[in-house]
Amino acid sequence: MANSRSSTAAKRRPIRLLDEFSVNRIAAGEVIERPAAAVKEIVENSIDAEASQIDIEFSNGGKSLIRVADNGIGIDPSELPLAIARHATSKIDGSDLLDIDTFGFRGEALPSMGAAGRLTVTSRRQGANSAFSIKVDGGTVSPAKPAALLTGTIVELERLFHATPARLKFLRSDGAETKAIVAAVKSLAMAHPRIAFSLSEIAPGGKPRTVFKVTAESGEPNSAVLERLRKLVGKDFTENSVVVDSQRDGIRLFGYSSLPTFARGAATQQHLFVNQRPVRDKLLHGALRAAYMDVLPKGRFPVAALFLECPPHLVDVNVHPAKTEVRFRDPQLVRSLIVSGIRRALANEGHRTSSTISSAMSGSFRRGGNYKNDLDFRSDRYHLYESREPQARGDGTDRPPSLPGDFPFGDTQDAPDECLPPNAFLGAARAQLHGNYIIAQTTTGIALVDQHAAHERLTYEELKRQFSQRAVEAQALLIPEIVDLVEPERSRLLDSAEALEPLGLVIEPFGIGAVAVQAVPAILGEANCKDLVQEIVDELEDGRPNSVVEKRINEILSRMACHGSVRSGRKMSGAEMNALLRKMEETPNSGQCNHGRPTYITLSLKDIEKLFNRR
Ligand code: ADP
Ligand code: MG
Repeated sequence: MANSRSSTAAKRRPIRLLDEFSVNRIAAGEVIERPAAAVKEIVENSIDAEASQIDIEFSNGGKSLIRVADNGIGIDPSELPLAIARHATSKIDGSDLLDIDTFGFRGEALPSMGAAGRLTVTSRRQGANSAFSIKVDGGTVSPAKPAALLTGTIVELERLFHATPARLKFLRSDGAETKAIVAAVKSLAMAHPRIAFSLSEIAPGGKPRTVFKVTAESGEPNSAVLERLRKLVGKDFTENSVVVDSQRDGIRLFGYSSLPTFARGAATQQHLFVNQRPVRDKLLHGALRAAYMDVLPKGRFPVAALFLECPPHLVDVNVHPAKTEVRFRDPQLVRSLIVSGIRRALANEGHRTSSTISSAMSGSFRRGGNYKNDLDFRSDRYHLYESREPQARGDGTDRPPSLPGDFPFGDTQDAPDECLPPNAFLGAARAQLHGNYIIAQTTTGIALVDQHAAHERLTYEELKRQFSQRAVEAQALLIPEIVDLVEPERSRLLDSAEALEPLGLVIEPFGIGAVAVQAVPAILGEANCKDLVQEIVDELEDGRPNSVVEKRINEILSRMACHGSVRSGRKMSGAEMNALLRKMEETPNSGQCNHGRPTYITLSLKDIEKLFNRR
């Protein structure tokens, strides 16, 4: 290898300027690395041309054909040769690259396409009485000539990359390229709710198949955005999300972010936009992750569609040829706006859990006869219900017994409904099942609560609150608990002892191979010190300095909370259960435990009636 390089160097040629065709082919490599990128560039031109309707067609994953028709302002025939020339643009004059309000500005998309494939631009300038068309094929331009077109512009790109066979080899399968095109057009359509979009795939036989189609949204701006997202990302997403709307120092964050219980296994469903530009940006995705750090375990990712709007001079969009990365003047401000905006929105609605969970649950109930299903009312797990003597109904109807009064077990006497506070959406506790599940009657149905998960979240939120006020109450142990620890864990823990003190945990050395726990956070009650210490040691990664402990506090608090929580299996009285429900109602994020699992699910009477074929 070294040999072939040096022999090339030996044949060094004189320095010269590359011809325009070569320059365009090189640029094409960056600007349109795949068909989806070409689609994005062409559609952005239509948006810049103020189109209100954009129709996109493609074949073979965009490799054989991409065609975009718009009803925008069009191009004057005298300017057609310029439109396809390099570094020619109508959008900026070059004087201020930090004040760009169009999507294009580099003037290299069309020439790049003309160098890599066969490009035809047909356009009729608004108000003109005829249309013209110009063609570039592998860099060779044919002069503009009259064409038939009623309005706007049609850009057609055929046989992309046939002039650059090396690039052709790098393309993925038609299916994969199609996926990328759909994703790119959907992103653009999300960001422009006032524009109608259609995307169709033309099958080999020539028959078009509509991939999606959306009409222009009317109505006020916010609801137009939300409505467009509902159509494009889905009702499941919008119904299981919170609306984020935050503002700081002239920057605004708006959109939907999912409830933690609606998370995914990958970060693929995170649509982020800066001034209506779809971006894949480390800073923004990192901020999104940070916003959910507290409520999602590692490996779970929120679904989100979020729009950041800021004055153009606060963001540099000219850092990437395909304009998918941006640079902010004040990255820290942007990050904290995202983190705090999402957290606030989640905290405000933190008691909600994903509705898909209860619909999945009602879907898993089987009516009568299916003994294999765990959740079957007739399975033997529910024998208490089943084995009761059938009730003689005095009212002569076949209505089922009302759940609360007839439930066969549970201490329900100390929670009469009239004592419930007005916002008690988790209702009155009626029973505890299998030592961990509380069944409560709500005004509209029932709630099923996982008492361990719920208690864990409550303890965690309380610990966080106390910690933020530097007031985690420590409970000194009468007899210090001696915990055996091997090296290097022992020294690692002792190195962090100082940082752990504000958390209510007092740890001292105790000879070789052990530490003494002198105090634990009071809220944890009789926590098992040994396990707690061991888990905290696991949290403290190798060789990390003390300051890191501070950063990992939330994780440590979360571990602690898990320890202090009511373990499943503990019997609770009616009063205890109701106290837990009331506390959940007023605690932020109480809809999910620290691991992102739901703490409760609700089932409406309507759902229950459906299960029994009453609806
Ligand atoms: P840029 O968008 O960066 O200006 P392009 O190569 O994408 O560069 O386009 C060159 C020029 O062609 C644009 O500046 C614009 O004037 C014109 N143009 C391209 N597409 C359209 C369109 N669909 N409608 C009207 N004008 C267009
Ligand atoms: Mg452009």
